[in-house]
Amino acid sequence: MVSRVIPVDTFDLVIFGGTGDLARRKILPGLFRRYCAGQMPPEAQIIGAARSEMTDDEYRAFVREAVDEFGSTPHEPGQFDAFLGRVGYQRVDAKGSDGWEDLGARLRDDAVRAFYFSVGPALFGDLAERLRTFGLATQDTRIVVEKPFGHDLQSARALNRELAEHFNEGQIYRIDHYLGKETVQNLMAVRFGNMLFEPLWNAQHVDHIQITVAETVGVGGRGGYYDKSGAMRDMIQNHLMQLLCLIAMEPPARFEPDSVRDEKLKVIRALDPVEPHHVVRGQYAADENQPGYRAHVEDPRSTTESFVALKAHISNWRWAGTPFYLRTGKMLRARTSEIAVVFKDAPHSIFGAEAGRHRNMLAIRLQPNEGMTLDVTIKEPGPGGMRLVDVPLDMSFADALGPDGADMPDAYERLIMDVIRGNQTLFMRGDEVEAAWAWTDPIIESWARRGDVPKPYDPGGSGPDDALMLMHRDGRRWRDIKA
Ligand code: NAP
Repeated sequence: MVSRVIPVDTFDLVIFGGTGDLARRKILPGLFRRYCAGQMPPEAQIIGAARSEMTDDEYRAFVREAVDEFGSTPHEPGQFDAFLGRVGYQRVDAKGSDGWEDLGARLRDDAVRAFYFSVGPALFGDLAERLRTFGLATQDTRIVVEKPFGHDLQSARALNRELAEHFNEGQIYRIDHYLGKETVQNLMAVRFGNMLFEPLWNAQHVDHIQITVAETVGVGGRGGYYDKSGAMRDMIQNHLMQLLCLIAMEPPARFEPDSVRDEKLKVIRALDPVEPHHVVRGQYAADENQPGYRAHVEDPRSTTESFVALKAHISNWRWAGTPFYLRTGKMLRARTSEIAVVFKDAPHSIFGAEAGRHRNMLAIRLQPNEGMTLDVTIKEPGPGGMRLVDVPLDMSFADALGPDGADMPDAYERLIMDVIRGNQTLFMRGDEVEAAWAWTDPIIESWARRGDVPKPYDPGGSGPDDALMLMHRDGRRWRDIKA
């Protein structure tokens, strides 16, 4: 299979927070990989910007180290130096006036201009304002804003208003890196590129849908940030919500930014408020090998959740009656993200009760081993009557697509290239983010009102028992969390 890399237009990309963790881990290595893939034009310019004092050469050394540590790619001799030749650094203070004019002098009029706000959200408004004040924002300038986009509906609205004072919606790229994952986009290809699934993709044929995003790590060094956020804000409101939207939305008329985002918004707005007894919160406990959640955060009595499982309902014609079970947590048995569409039983079994109960299930793995499995019921081989067995039709994308499948661009690199191309399809619109908060806020408020304390769970397991009960009560069970 031949990979088609279409080079983007020449650009000036300024990374505010260019010395930060996200830039080191994701943005800079991703840009290098796109450079090696031939997608970045040779005249492109990348400028790191932060308060630290650094020369261009010092920043290049910083970039080289980051790429070596977090994801280089096979490249020709001299290619790394050529890439670094496109990199520079400008000291700026988001809250002051230092450096802004010098930054402006580095930018070209005939290049696409993009500013990546890879800094804490408290600085988004300051940056947007200074880009205007110092005349760095042109008609066509794009800004990229990182998560978290707000802490609740009120703060998300305030942030949207603040950005809207300086940029129009078509210039604002709100990142949810889940949308940049190859398999997440594949959800749309699978649903709307095949005739096979869509006729069955509704409450008449689907018993329920499970979405699981499990991590093996705890909060580690992010305890300070995480304790103010928790799994509901950090994962459900954005990443799992986006997966839910893509699984549940109506077919957009076209694969275009507003067509897709309009359909996603309709899903969020059709979500019923969640009943308190349909949500389970958990917090990982200590075991003999490691301390528990509370040892990683400042407050030894913290009631922030590191795990959430919930049952959601979408009140529309397609999904009325089909529950969506969402589950995410830290310190679980395996690192895995998966969506399972569990179909209903056949209406009548011609094989009798002894053939057992069998169901088709489509599992879409987002990580690891991106791919799909379709469970199909067949006859168990051998003599002695008709016994049925479910076998998986297993497709790993890396196997099926050959070397191109194995070498899929990381979410960040794909999304940055989309910013340069001016394609907002895989970015969240302001109203979408607000609608997601409007659904999430009452759940969080009800915990506070009721003084809810998360259930402790053992590290390395699948979360609190109550999460299992959430499904068992409905005569269903979660799929195993396994890599
Ligand atoms: P970080 O490591 O703390 O880096 C912050 C960056 O901002 C540094 O480069 C810092 O450099 C710069 N900075 C701070 N104050 C500034 C100011 N007044 N003017 C100009 N620059 C300033 O943070 P991060 O982990 O990279 O996260 C950046 C953003 O990405 C945050 O919104 C975070 O929530 C989001 N995010 C991060 C990750 C991740 O894996 N790290 C994942 C998802 C989302 P100086 O101190 O030199 O100014």
